[in-house]
Amino acid sequence: MSLTLPGRLAAVLPEGRVLPDDVWRRRHRIVLSVSAAQALGLGILALALGEGTLAATLEAAAVAYPLAFALLPGAGRTLRAAAATLSLLTASVLLVYLMEGQTEAHFHFFVVIGLVSLYQDWVPFGIALLVVIAHHGVLGTLVPHSVFGHGAAHDAPWTWAGIHAGFVLAASLAHLAAWRLNEQQGLRDPLTGLANRTLLMETTDRLLTRSSAEVSMLFLDLDDFKDVNDSRGHAAGDQLLTGIARRLSGCLRPGDQVARIGGDEFAVVVAGGPEVATAVGQRMLVALADPMVIDGRPLMPHVSIGAAGTTTAPERDAGVLLRNADLAMYMAKALGKNRLVHYADGMAQAAEEKARLLEDLAGAVAGEQLRVHYQPTIVLTDGSTTGYEALLRWQHPERGLVPPVEFIPLAEEGGLIVEIGRWVLEHAARQAVVWSAEAGRPIGMAVNLSPKQLADDDVVATVSQVLEETGLPACQLTLEVTEGVLVRDVDLVADQLQALRRLGVRIAIDDFGTGYSSLSYLRRLPADIIKIDRSFVQDLDSGGSSTTLVASIIELARSLRLEVVAEGVETAEQRAVLGELACSHAQGFLFGRPQPAPEHSVESAPALAPAPLVSH
Ligand code: C2E
Ligand code: MG
Ligand code: MG
Repeated sequence: MSLTLPGRLAAVLPEGRVLPDDVWRRRHRIVLSVSAAQALGLGILALALGEGTLAATLEAAAVAYPLAFALLPGAGRTLRAAAATLSLLTASVLLVYLMEGQTEAHFHFFVVIGLVSLYQDWVPFGIALLVVIAHHGVLGTLVPHSVFGHGAAHDAPWTWAGIHAGFVLAASLAHLAAWRLNEQQGLRDPLTGLANRTLLMETTDRLLTRSSAEVSMLFLDLDDFKDVNDSRGHAAGDQLLTGIARRLSGCLRPGDQVARIGGDEFAVVVAGGPEVATAVGQRMLVALADPMVIDGRPLMPHVSIGAAGTTTAPERDAGVLLRNADLAMYMAKALGKNRLVHYADGMAQAAEEKARLLEDLAGAVAGEQLRVHYQPTIVLTDGSTTGYEALLRWQHPERGLVPPVEFIPLAEEGGLIVEIGRWVLEHAARQAVVWSAEAGRPIGMAVNLSPKQLADDDVVATVSQVLEETGLPACQLTLEVTEGVLVRDVDLVADQLQALRRLGVRIAIDDFGTGYSSLSYLRRLPADIIKIDRSFVQDLDSGGSSTTLVASIIELARSLRLEVVAEGVETAEQRAVLGELACSHAQGFLFGRPQPAPEHSVESAPALAPAPLVSH
């Protein structure tokens, strides 16, 4: 894109941004101290060079008096900066005069230009340039010996005024370049080079005030970025962020702006309504869908995107757009991440509600509000119970029973899952020991592990501690991880699972078929059991396409010597089809609902007796 001359100038010249108040005041104090020191120094120099006391005092006063304006508390920045500049320049002019125009005395002007550029303000800068030219030209003509130290300049003062002005201008340009750079550094994210929050908000303000057209904001938060940092290190995390920044930039239209506004948070402002925001957001989801190779290993960066526009905002305000987009992003996370959600009324209340629930959850463990329910797993051929799956429940004092899909993601986000997970593990393990003793045979226990728990460095130590404390033999414990967690970083997860397996526990891949992993993943995973997701099982009795899929999963599992559990079996028809497909194990309401421990009587349902079938 070629720029016009004004455009090019605008690109290199400073934009004249306002310095933050504290920075401006600090710089102003420096300039004032230099000015005051110069007033004193010049008075002393004048006396030393043989000027009378009165003349020396007047000269010092000429430098010092503009400082009165510079110190004036009610005066604006520009007036105070201009006054300080005049004081500095008066010192330059007097120094040149006292040294009878000697060239070395002129160096002082360069020092002044440098000092004045600290204000990052066009007014003092302009004053400095004008005074240099006027002093050299006008005074150079009237009293050439007080301005120039050599004959050539005495004869042609305007020519030499021009030459000096040229040098001063050149020095100024260097300062302008530094000024521009300074401005840019304050507005860019140093890692990715993208705009920062300040620049994004400025751009948004500009778009909002320029016309009444629609403006939209997208808020992006990387999914599980902390896991990348924890598992691959911060250098890999940084590489991922820069890679993502590049891909996001590639999705923009001219005029849109993407900014990095936090560790793993990005925001994009677009000129346009919801359709435009959707198009840009979808492009971003697609752009990030390809794995990124970092240190020779692939990483799949996923992102949750919230979009909000002026149509759904009560006022045209950049802060409101960003906050609404942020709320929508939270909804995208809650709905399963890696998606785009538009802001809608009520999301603010939902967010408040969620925050309250999270607060309550923090007290749930201590307040003994958590319960574990147990659902049996049976052998399909004879209906005998081989073990149970522990399923967490929260008995909220006001809301009643809160289902795990509502609070487990919350516990993950709020960092409570590790503590809660350990609590479940302990309870379930103790229960398995009790039941095994009652039944006189080993009763298996399956416990769900969330992605955060699996990523926790201490997970192996925790599991082994719990086994030791409760006395449950490791081979009776199964840890269930959902398939989704495996897709993200299969190597890392495989290492962790391998370490768990070395303890002697079994690993089940839960909700198999929903995580979009290719079946070939299975070969690389240290797993013992596959649990076919309920959605495929439920489709079985209608003769849907799931039958073929379930058949091939069972076939694959057999070739890999994995046990198969069909989840969510509700009807006798589903059970019959699974039997025909030679599925070994099953779980579901047909065989038993999740219930508190006392409701299950292991003694009265011994291992080899078929469990009664309950029809629905
Ligand atoms: P999951 O591990 O796949 O558990 C199976 C879910 O399906 C359970 O839901 C269970 O009640 C339900 N279910 C079992 N049989 C049937 C059936 O025949 N029909 C229908 N419609 N549903 C059936 P629940 O208890 O609501 O748990 C949901 C998910 O929450 C679990 O899915 C698991 O991923 C998670 N979860 C539960 N407890 C824990 C826990 O202690 N820790 C972690 N990290 N996650 C847990
Ligand atoms: Mg499970
Ligand atoms: Mg499941």
